Amino acid sequence: MLKTTITNFVSRLLSAPTKGPERWSRDMHGIDRRRVSRHAVKVCEVLNQHGFDAYIVGGAVRDLIVGLEPKDFDVATNATPNQIRPLFRRARIIGRRFQLVHVVFGQEIIETSTFRAPSSGNQETDEHGRILRDNEFGTHEEDAARRDFTINALYYDPIKEEVIDFHRGVADLKNRVIRMIGDPETRYREDPVRMLRALRFAAKLGARIDPASQEPIVRLAGLIEHVPASRLFDETLKLLCCGHAMDCLRDLHRVGLNKSLIPLLDTIFEEQGGEEFVDIALARTDARVRAGKPISPSFLFAALLWRLVRKRWEALIEEGEQRNNALMLAADSVIADQTHRLAIQRRYQSDMREIWLMQARFERASVRTIWRIIEQPRFRAAVDFLQLRAEAREVDSVLAQWWMDLANSGTETRGEMIDVWQAGHSAARTRPARRRRRKKHPSASAGSSSGDQETEP
Ligand code: ATP
Ligand code: MG
Repeated sequence: MLKTTITNFVSRLLSAPTKGPERWSRDMHGIDRRRVSRHAVKVCEVLNQHGFDAYIVGGAVRDLIVGLEPKDFDVATNATPNQIRPLFRRARIIGRRFQLVHVVFGQEIIETSTFRAPSSGNQETDEHGRILRDNEFGTHEEDAARRDFTINALYYDPIKEEVIDFHRGVADLKNRVIRMIGDPETRYREDPVRMLRALRFAAKLGARIDPASQEPIVRLAGLIEHVPASRLFDETLKLLCCGHAMDCLRDLHRVGLNKSLIPLLDTIFEEQGGEEFVDIALARTDARVRAGKPISPSFLFAALLWRLVRKRWEALIEEGEQRNNALMLAADSVIADQTHRLAIQRRYQSDMREIWLMQARFERASVRTIWRIIEQPRFRAAVDFLQLRAEAREVDSVLAQWWMDLANSGTETRGEMIDVWQAGHSAARTRPARRRRRKKHPSASAGSSSGDQETEP
């Protein structure tokens, strides 16, 4: 207990600014105000008009300074939730333990939170030091000290166009250094997810992790096990969608953080061609992220886990299971094995299943099933997935292209394409799945469990 108190005292000393914060003017921080959400500016203006301090904070400021497009805009203020809410037409208080306000402008939500105090050493923690409750309001300076990295503790005043910097975050950002505020080990223990965040920001910004912030990670990697699965899912998703996913996965592997995160991933990497498949999938994801296109989490996880699904699928067919059924069983068992650590949300799980199950149908479609497949809500995603498999040389690229063309065509062209298919011109396209079925199941071409007659053209 005494040790914890001393550590906390030291960490507060370390995180305490020696003098007032640095204040950076426009020509120093270089933020182009036109790239700042006008809604976030509006929230700050309204709060200012009512006598409160309000700043844009966190990831948005960091990204604006380095010239990246912020994902979203958060505001921090000294107004309490009950003072904030009545100032806006559409605003609601959310959260139970630590309340904050969502100010809604059409599609955009500006998350507005009251300055918060950092750990005082009196919070409820688990036996490893992980903070279970953390809900005290604090001063501006305290709010900066409880943030994770110096580069994430920058406050932008959009009216004065000034950045307030308590922890030399602008310098770290310019030098591309990820540095924990306070004592790194204590801060990782308080919240082990910060280890993942360190790797993500390093990959995203092309930065290095300061040695003192890097050193404890290998030692403390196991603490990730104690983080609730849903929280882990959110941070893992962010990691996979940061635009440098493969770099992140390799780093995770290097420091031993991957095991408790995506437990099946190690197995996938061990599979022949497994790493290559993930590499191809993530390279596409990264390209989309960098082009500012949206990413579908279900597609991403479907791709990460596919090689395992396929392996179990093949094994089940070998055991005599009917083809589509076997795929369904394989999908269910992979999802079940994975989700006890990483809580993939149910809606994503069902999309993943659909994407996977359609793969069996693409390879063995009849005219009737083709029209039915087109109607499926995840058809487009499943066709993209087929492209991925073609790129990994798992299915014939002609087959994948045929489906892509079909997806991109209007009804009339689709009719013509399907007629040609029926006329038997596409025989070569269905070959990849044939060998195994012939061996064990001479009659397995007789459709899915729903009774579809899947004739091979
Ligand atoms: P992203 O671009 O992924 O949204 P971000 O830095 O904005 O990155 P968020 O999770 O949106 O990350 O968090 C917003 C801010 O809240 C962070 O910049 C940081 O200041 C603070 N923060 C978030 N998570 C933690 C944490 N685990 N510990 C301490 N501070 C945190
Ligand atoms: Mg953010």
